[in-house]
Amino acid sequence: MINKYKKIVIKIGSNSIVNSKTKKIKSKWLDGLCKDIAKIHKSKKIVIVCSGAIALGSKSISEKNLRKLEDKQAAASIGQIELAHQWRSKLKKYKINVSQILLTLEDSEERRRYLNARNTLSSLQDKNIIPIINENDTVATEEIRYGDNDKLAARVAQMIEADLLILLSDIDGLYDDNPKKNNNAKKLTEIFKIDKKIENLAKKQTSELGSGGMNTKILAAKICSGNGCTTVITNSNKNNPISDINKFNSTTFYPVVSYNSSKKKWLLNHLKPSGSVIVDSGAKKAILKNKSLLPAGIIEIKGRFKRGDVISIILRNGQKVAIGISAYDFSDAKKIIGKNSKEISKILGFEGRDEVVHKDNLVRFSS
Ligand code: GLU
Repeated sequence: MINKYKKIVIKIGSNSIVNSKTKKIKSKWLDGLCKDIAKIHKSKKIVIVCSGAIALGSKSISEKNLRKLEDKQAAASIGQIELAHQWRSKLKKYKINVSQILLTLEDSEERRRYLNARNTLSSLQDKNIIPIINENDTVATEEIRYGDNDKLAARVAQMIEADLLILLSDIDGLYDDNPKKNNNAKKLTEIFKIDKKIENLAKKQTSELGSGGMNTKILAAKICSGNGCTTVITNSNKNNPISDINKFNSTTFYPVVSYNSSKKKWLLNHLKPSGSVIVDSGAKKAILKNKSLLPAGIIEIKGRFKRGDVISIILRNGQKVAIGISAYDFSDAKKIIGKNSKEISKILGFEGRDEVVHKDNLVRFSS
């Protein structure tokens, strides 16, 4: 079922990775998951969002129930080391390198930090390293928390432009009633629209260790649905938790828009670009042939735009060629206009992108 997807975020819930009684890592299970990940790693980009730091760390803290935020933060700071260590040593067997990224809500909501996190993730992906992500629980206070890793995983999926989010959980998917209370509850296989009825079903189902539950999973699926990303909720408790996913052991939420069309719409609806670049006819031709905008084809920069801002790409006579997202701020862009991309790092003093606007980040106007 996962064959057609290329960029996958796998979110692992606390219940899947930590034994709820002993608060120890489910080592055998993680071995199986890593083996499964190693199988698909060659052909797909994988990012892992993994919970369990608080649950793992709690066994080193005397309080039985971690109610206070600072106790949870302390537990997270203990458990996170173990979590990262487990991932590193288990994936090392397959010669896969991992990295650790701890995010707070501001990292996805504040533009500059969002872009920085996105760049780090894309650099790791270029190097085939698997990022292991969790919320930075030790610094995130109640008001500034994602609170659950389902929402965090959806934001990460958005950041890396994933086409699939897999939520590994302790349940096969969304049921039409609480399956713990009603034996006749039926699992829903495919969902094309998350409406009030679906949201209400989700409210009835919760989980033991993590802070999520079905409710936050549906919220995550909703975020992804608007960004062209499919979401699958499935039970982690199977031999190959990823490659054995099928319609009998999962619920799939399809996006309401394709990724490209949502980005295109967003760009086209952008009423106020922050600036513009004037390009020559060679650049225009290249863009119309589905190529990126390189500094060599730019004649002039207008406006004080920042990296990540939307800019217009126009000809000297004012004709609009395209609209897109700039990889440079206006002052850096000014320094590299007319230059060959190979010269960028020498001129700016840092390794920047070859393109000022990458082809995936622009929408052409027909000629
Ligand atoms: N960040 C928390 C942890 O690692 C988990 C949050 C959640 O349960 O979704 O323990």
